[in-house]
Amino acid sequence: MPELPEVETIARELRPLILGERLAGFRTDWPRSVRHPEPALFSARVAGRRVERVERRAKWILVDLDDGAVIAIQVKMTGQLFVLPADAPADPHVHLVFPLGSGRELRIRDVRKFARVALYERQPGGGIVGPGGVDPLAEIGPEPLAPDFTVARFRERLRGRRSRLKPLLLDQSFLAGVGNIYADEALWRARLHPLRSAATLRPAQERALWIAIRSVLTEGIERRGSSIDDYTAPGGDGEMQEHLAVYQRTGTPCPRCGRPIRRIVLGIRSTHFCGWCQRLPAAERSAGNRALLAAARRTTRRGPRWSELPTGAGAVGARPAARRKGKPDTAPARAGGPAAGGSR
Ligand SMILES: [Zn+2]
Repeated sequence: MPELPEVETIARELRPLILGERLAGFRTDWPRSVRHPEPALFSARVAGRRVERVERRAKWILVDLDDGAVIAIQVKMTGQLFVLPADAPADPHVHLVFPLGSGRELRIRDVRKFARVALYERQPGGGIVGPGGVDPLAEIGPEPLAPDFTVARFRERLRGRRSRLKPLLLDQSFLAGVGNIYADEALWRARLHPLRSAATLRPAQERALWIAIRSVLTEGIERRGSSIDDYTAPGGDGEMQEHLAVYQRTGTPCPRCGRPIRRIVLGIRSTHFCGWCQRLPAAERSAGNRALLAAARRTTRRGPRWSELPTGAGAVGARPAARRKGKPDTAPARAGGPAAGGSR
């Protein structure tokens, strides 16, 4: 699932493609993808407006128009953005289309149909509001790469948090844009166990985690994101997946100590870590943590990707045959890197 570096890459590559363009409208064959307003009104509202800004906030892409309207795009699990000539071959997985004045189209291709678009109004203070004056981003935590996100500010946010580090990093109200991939990688870099309690970190460890989060996200952006599963950017696949230390690398040697990477399941998410480099202090080896760790020792096998699961066994979207058929013309072929498959 795309996280901060992936969505940032999409926004950066989309910007030069549509900045200054006039929108000719909007259409969809899957109205549930449109949060508000309803599609016909959406189209009428954006038709003739010029694109003034393309930005990312958390995992949202925000396209500012010249009348103060803001198109918000959430790519969610499998959404892909492409800007193509209007006469480019149709793709059965494209459900959202913004025709552009120049004769091209911004197309959102989405195998699982979880991507969402909505229209908001830009506020003088910088926020966006939708129906009822609600800012959908108000509850989202700070941007980890913002210049004002200092180690002091990070410490402040950690203070009094009792949750374990992995779920805390995934909590979007704690920090914006970090998901499963970069949480696992940041904890490995900081040598912190995913089940470690945030409340017990020493100052040096807080600092190490702050550095790790920022460095792994920065590197993720420089490498244009991790093309695992369906993520790709307007300019093609990223290459961060080839530089991940632990994520989906269960059973392979830890790049630091050579011992096999382990996997545990917290909630519904897989967590990958090195049991040697990321040790849990003795005081935190509670019964609950011990049970999860025992499970980790049993699950070193690399399982199938969701897209390889037979229909019905966890796959909700299109059938594998439909996926293969729909894959090609707009999406560049994926290079099968070492981390391209594996357990989730
Ligand atoms: Zn290690």
